[in-house]
Amino acid sequence: MNKGYLKTLLKYISNVHDLGKKINSLKDKRQNSIIKTKAVAISLLIGFMVSIRSFNKLDDYLENKDFRKLVPKKMKLPRIGTVRESLKTFEIDGLVRVHDEILKKSKQNKLYRDGTIDGLKVIALDGVELFSSKNKSCCNCLVRVINEKPQYYHKSVVAGYVGTDPHLVMGQEMLKPQKDSSSYKGEGELTAARRLIKSLYQKHHQFADVIVYDAIACNAPWINFIKEYNMEAVVRVKDDRLNIVKDAFGLFKTRESDAAWDVRDKKNKITRVSAWSENIDMAGVKDGIRFVKFKETVIDVKTGEITKESEIWIITTAKNMNLETLRKIIHARWGIENNIFRQLKNQWHMDHCFMHHENGLEATLMFMIIAFNLMQLFFFRRLKNFRIRKLLQIEIIERIILEMVSYISEGNYIIDTT
Ligand SMILES: [Zn+2]
Repeated sequence: MNKGYLKTLLKYISNVHDLGKKINSLKDKRQNSIIKTKAVAISLLIGFMVSIRSFNKLDDYLENKDFRKLVPKKMKLPRIGTVRESLKTFEIDGLVRVHDEILKKSKQNKLYRDGTIDGLKVIALDGVELFSSKNKSCCNCLVRVINEKPQYYHKSVVAGYVGTDPHLVMGQEMLKPQKDSSSYKGEGELTAARRLIKSLYQKHHQFADVIVYDAIACNAPWINFIKEYNMEAVVRVKDDRLNIVKDAFGLFKTRESDAAWDVRDKKNKITRVSAWSENIDMAGVKDGIRFVKFKETVIDVKTGEITKESEIWIITTAKNMNLETLRKIIHARWGIENNIFRQLKNQWHMDHCFMHHENGLEATLMFMIIAFNLMQLFFFRRLKNFRIRKLLQIEIIERIILEMVSYISEGNYIIDTT
């Protein structure tokens, strides 16, 4: 019998991740505040754990005292005005430290010990636009021109595990504006991506075997950069004007596929996969790269009808990697089901503007990532057979919200920061 998701969750984040102590270490720079930083932090974490879509929604929970029974009795909880004030000066380093500690603990608990795809640890990168606005309202705004009018926006490069659940976010790096430039265009996504890989490596060493990225990274400097870290790069190719595409297609044209196999991942559908693979030269890459073309035909088992045909091209440094493994990597990244980036945007509202303030928006993003990771760990590491039971994450979250109201804290778990 279900003993209550909320209690199980509170017990998990207290016992395994010592969340109360971690929250206690967080700081902001408000002076003489009646409401403590830890009370703000708890409110934000619970809010994001139950997947709030706006700060108005968070304030609704706070106004109705819905989090009251989850925190120490004497703790005075904030309203949203105080939360916003706190976020403006919140120390982001502290949040990053808490985030890293959760990842390190998961590693100690042998998460991803067997890799995420065929024994390999696979990390995907993606540039996520957080929000855009017609008004510049902070000093870190990036800007672009649309219909001759400036549009201000913020963007972050996010790294997350793909393949086996849970899909934890490993880190994020905000794109910086280029203040000295007259164009105000901001740095390129790849510059932020490099900073992210470098900092993840410094903190977690060999955190991945494979780094998968979209067509923006289809260039020699990126391939060489990933090789420096002894990781394999897998990069999507889209532009058929590139020399590597012309060279590869010239070779593939006259021959049958190098491998073909069937995949049956849906009841009435078979995907027939053909793959062509060749090592070719790429200007600026010392040992050249491997170009792979996958052709996929989805067939209805009952009628024999072709329901979908598609092609995907990649380049990779992994010259000996099994073609089926490479295809799994691509599908884990771009497949519709369980796509980490789609989930972050659609279900966890990563692309919603919670607040537009240079420090506040990054602090908010870090709270969201910490809450997201804790919930993913809870679903896949603590709840038994979560995936097999075919429950949606949102359904469990709805249940947790219902349980908050009737929760009896006496003798039960709370987020204890004392
Ligand atoms: Zn801004």
